[in-house]
Amino acid sequence: MTAAPSWFDPKRPQPDLVTDVPGPEAKAVLDRDTAITSPSLPRAYAIAPRRGYGSVIEDVDGNLFLDFNAGIAVNSTGHAHPTVVAAVKEQAENLLHYSASDFYLPVYSQMCETLAATAPMDGKVRVFLTNSGAEAVEGALKLSRYATGRQYVISFFGSFHGRTYGAMTLTGSKSKYHKGFGPLLPGVLHAPYAPASLDYIEDVLFAHQVEPTEVAAIFVEPIQGEGGFIVPPAGWLARLREICDKHGILLVADEVQSGMGRTGKMWAIEHTGVKPDILISAKGIASGLPLGAFMARAELMEKWGAGAHGSTYGGSPVPCAAGIATMKVIQEENLLDNATKQGDFLLAGLRELQKKFPETVIDVRGVALMIGVEFPTGAIAERVQDAAFRRGLLVLEAGVNAVRMSPPLVLTREQAETGLRLFGEAVAEVAGQASA
Ligand code: PLP
Repeated sequence: MTAAPSWFDPKRPQPDLVTDVPGPEAKAVLDRDTAITSPSLPRAYAIAPRRGYGSVIEDVDGNLFLDFNAGIAVNSTGHAHPTVVAAVKEQAENLLHYSASDFYLPVYSQMCETLAATAPMDGKVRVFLTNSGAEAVEGALKLSRYATGRQYVISFFGSFHGRTYGAMTLTGSKSKYHKGFGPLLPGVLHAPYAPASLDYIEDVLFAHQVEPTEVAAIFVEPIQGEGGFIVPPAGWLARLREICDKHGILLVADEVQSGMGRTGKMWAIEHTGVKPDILISAKGIASGLPLGAFMARAELMEKWGAGAHGSTYGGSPVPCAAGIATMKVIQEENLLDNATKQGDFLLAGLRELQKKFPETVIDVRGVALMIGVEFPTGAIAERVQDAAFRRGLLVLEAGVNAVRMSPPLVLTREQAETGLRLFGEAVAEVAGQASA
């Protein structure tokens, strides 16, 4: 591994205690941004990053933040990992673009092989590369219908699958994501997510709405992400697999947020032993470059022929090079083990915090570095998020009333300790306000 970037001073306290954010430069960025960008962007709080290294972000005013967001679970190997940066530079110097849709790119097939080697399913798989998570969800949806000849699909309340029409229709987390965009994609039904019983699918959906023989696929996040980092109880996904098997329905695991090592295994579904028919990935797959993928049992993908699906940019050379380097770093630096170690440490510390503030912290859940902390209301979650931000810790609201932590997999023990301390202070501040 080569050296850290020259701006990064390892002796500078990480993070500095930030007391006055946004600073003047960040305020200027905000003003400029709000005047020109689409107001639809959700925007959580006023961080305006200039650069980052490892698990630390520096904003435009020079404040340092400990990044427990990782750009919404994307910077898996941390910011500017030297191995990833070197791979990106080298690829950019050699070939910026050539479309893998119509031609043959060595780096594209290498990325597909790299992913296929991790597939949590039996037998041969085939891979299709995309530019984003939503685009991978769309592809998986098209493949499900194409390969089965069936038109209905089921997904879950609380789920998030993306913003394009198919992915948005599958999404069941917040009604505002659908508002004003109807009619949505026909043929999509929703069922309650874990811990609710899966009987609803058979007793309600199959009994009253659709014959199971007309259902192509069930889309599921093995751990629900945007919905609040909800971990299904043991046996829940196995039961879902049973329902799929009984009716010839494909099981599609959306691992856009839970995959690429975040839970201490490459794919979260591996914790359950359940094997999906199609698996979707994006976010952490290329450490920040736009890349997504869906892989499927080969016989499914072999049903569609030339021209059925493609993409000009999907699996473009630079993101592929970043993806191959990301996988190399995950393996060489034992990042799955690190995710488990630091995640267990954080979870234990957060459970102590819950004991200290039982009325403010009502649930701590998660696996490895995919951690959700639940508060009594969304307003309290938001106040904790802001109090953490003012202390130099970046976390992000999720679900109705939770805050999520999804730090880079390279998080050190020292950083985990700092993060816990800052989060504890933020919770204490908010709990104090509530009792005052
Ligand atoms: N699927 C899941 C589980 C996600 O969490 C997301 C994004 O948050 C997506 C799909 C959509 O990914 P993208 O924003 O890259 O389109």
